[in-house]
Amino acid sequence: MKEQVNRVCEFLDHHVTRRFAGPAPLNEDEGEVLPFLFHRLFTEEELNEDIYVHERVTVPLFDRFVGHCRALGYGFITPSEVLRGQHVGKRSVMVTFDDGYADNLRALPILERHDAKATFFLSPAHISEHRRFWWDALHAQGIHSFSEYQEMPFDEARSRIEGRWPGGFQPAGELDRAMSLDEFKTLAASDRVEIGHHSFNHTVLAGRDREYVKAEIEQTNAFFQRHLGFKPEAIAYPNGVYTDTLVDLCVEQGLRVGLTCDFRSERLSRNPGAERLMRLGRVMVSGTRPLLPQITAATLQPSLKRGVYGLKRALR
Ligand SMILES: [Zn+2]
Repeated sequence: MKEQVNRVCEFLDHHVTRRFAGPAPLNEDEGEVLPFLFHRLFTEEELNEDIYVHERVTVPLFDRFVGHCRALGYGFITPSEVLRGQHVGKRSVMVTFDDGYADNLRALPILERHDAKATFFLSPAHISEHRRFWWDALHAQGIHSFSEYQEMPFDEARSRIEGRWPGGFQPAGELDRAMSLDEFKTLAASDRVEIGHHSFNHTVLAGRDREYVKAEIEQTNAFFQRHLGFKPEAIAYPNGVYTDTLVDLCVEQGLRVGLTCDFRSERLSRNPGAERLMRLGRVMVSGTRPLLPQITAATLQPSLKRGVYGLKRALR
């Protein structure tokens, strides 16, 4: 019986999903936006190193990803272009990178080759202070479960880590460091790149009080103002965690687009409003699963996705 149910589920995945995959037709005054999330771009060899490898995305895989999106007929869009209504009448992919690792610069020739764009959400303290990310500091000490630190305010995490391992925030080498200031400037100077907020210290902002959130955003703005000459208007909430209160505080600080980690693509009208724009979904790409189904899953109509999922659950 179990085997038969599995066979039916497999049939649903392979035939129904594939046949009906693809977005519903667009209305005249809306656009389809598929935001995707990346963190790092590794070489194959680097994946064998003893480092935290995030989603194991390699440079060739990212190259294939951008190529596939093009082949499926998608253009590339950034948050500020959505604010200007440039998504209307089109199907676009919003490529995003969180955190600001040095290896993110490997995206530049790929974006160039495919005539694509990407948005990089950075936590500037790691750039200006040559500071390692807290999860890399833990990984270096053989700690691979980060849940205890996940929602902790940064100062608390820092004093705990530095208390146990003095110098723990010092990168060990090329593989666990944020981009340098020069690399940041190179990245930001590219006309294929947009820069966005990700909190100053990479600390979860949801649940913090107004002054805390304000200080994190203001410090980030000061860094961007100094080095870019303007303040970006988009934020990727650290760890994807957000609340209605946090969204309101971000809007109060002048932010107008917010990226979550909710698995969802978007169909946006010309002026979707802050309510919608501050809660955009994102699809995380994994280097351990076949690439194309991950892209097409994001294009699936939500009603169909729910239907197939519900049917499979009922059968099991
Ligand atoms: Zn992050």
